[in-house]
Amino acid sequence: MPPNLPPQTMQAMVLEAGGKPLKPTELPVPKPKADQILLKVLACGVCRTDLHIVDGELNQPKLPLVLGHEIVGRVEALGPVVKGFEIGERVGVPWLGFTDGTCPYCLSGRENLCDDPRFTGYQINGGYAAYTVADARYCFKLPDGYSDAEAAPLLCAGLIGYRCLKMAKDALSGDPVSGTKRLGIYGFGAAAHIVAQVAQAQGCKIYAFTSPGDIKAQDFARELGAVWAGGSDEAPPEKLDAAIIFAPVGALIPAGLRAVRKGGVVVCGGIHMSDIPSFPYDILWEERVVRSVANLTRNDAREFLALAPTIPVKTTVAPMRLSQANEALEALRQGKLTGAAVLIPDG
Ligand SMILES: [Zn+2]
Ligand SMILES: [Zn+2]
Repeated sequence: MPPNLPPQTMQAMVLEAGGKPLKPTELPVPKPKADQILLKVLACGVCRTDLHIVDGELNQPKLPLVLGHEIVGRVEALGPVVKGFEIGERVGVPWLGFTDGTCPYCLSGRENLCDDPRFTGYQINGGYAAYTVADARYCFKLPDGYSDAEAAPLLCAGLIGYRCLKMAKDALSGDPVSGTKRLGIYGFGAAAHIVAQVAQAQGCKIYAFTSPGDIKAQDFARELGAVWAGGSDEAPPEKLDAAIIFAPVGALIPAGLRAVRKGGVVVCGGIHMSDIPSFPYDILWEERVVRSVANLTRNDAREFLALAPTIPVKTTVAPMRLSQANEALEALRQGKLTGAAVLIPDG
C-alpha cells in the first residue's frame, strides 16, 4: 500500500444505545461520496449536546453512532464534485451537516431551522474517530493561529454562543445615558468562555452565574474579564440588559427573567433543558422576552470564524485521548472542566 493512502480501519468510540458508555471499536475508514471530503481527525471537541445524546435526552440519533460535531481535520481525499478544498488543508466540521435547501426555512435564510436537516455526530457519524467524512458544503476553513485542539471549541461552543449573542443584540444596544451594556451568562463552560470574550470586544460587561459554590468556575469567569461572578441563586448587583443560559436547567429561565431589566431578553442556547418551573407573569411583563437558539447557519460560521482571530478569542482546552471519551463526558457532566474538553486520536 502506498504510504499516503489512509489505512483500511480506524479507532472510533461508538454509541450503540442511549444510556450506555461509548465502546472502543475498530471501524472501516469511510469512503467519501461525490460531495464529501475524507478527513483525518486532528481534534474533536466534546459538547454538552453529546452528553444529551448519550443520556437519551435527544431521541433521533442514528445508531450505532460516532458522536462529535466540533471536528478539526486534515483533508485526505476529495469526492469528485467537491470544490474549494485541497488535500492537506485543515478544515472544521460543525453540527449542521446537511440541509435540503428547498424548505421555507432554507429559502428564507434560516437553514438552522430546516425541515429536513441532518446533524453531525447525531444523524451523521462525527469526529470521535480517527477519520470521518463530511459534506464539503458544510465544512469551513479554519483561522491560523489556533492549534488543532484550540480550534475545535470554536465549531460549536463558539458558533452557538455567537448566534446567542446576535439574538441578544437589540437588548444590548447600550444604556442611552452611560452606554453601558450588561450581559449575564448562566453556566460558565465552553460556550460561555468564548462568548464572554466576543461580548466584551463589543463593549459588554459580563456577569457570570455558575452553580452555587463553584468558586473555580467563578474565578475562571473573572480571569476572562467578568465584572461580577456568583451563584445562579444570586441576583446580579445591577439589572442586566440580556442573559444567555447555557446550563441545561429550566429553573434558570425565571432566574434570568428576574435578573433582566424591562425589555430585556433571556436567550436559551442549549438543545435540551430540564422542565421550566411555573413562574409569575410579572417577571415576563414589561416586554421581557424568552427565546431559544437552535443550531447554526453556515453564515453564522463564516462570520464567527472570521471574527474570532481578530478579537482574538482565546480558547481554554483540556486535551484528552480519543479513548478517554467516556471520561471526558463524565468530567463535563460533573462540571469538572475549565473550558472545553477536546479528544485527540492516537497518531
Ligand atoms: Zn455542540
Ligand atoms: Zn430546509
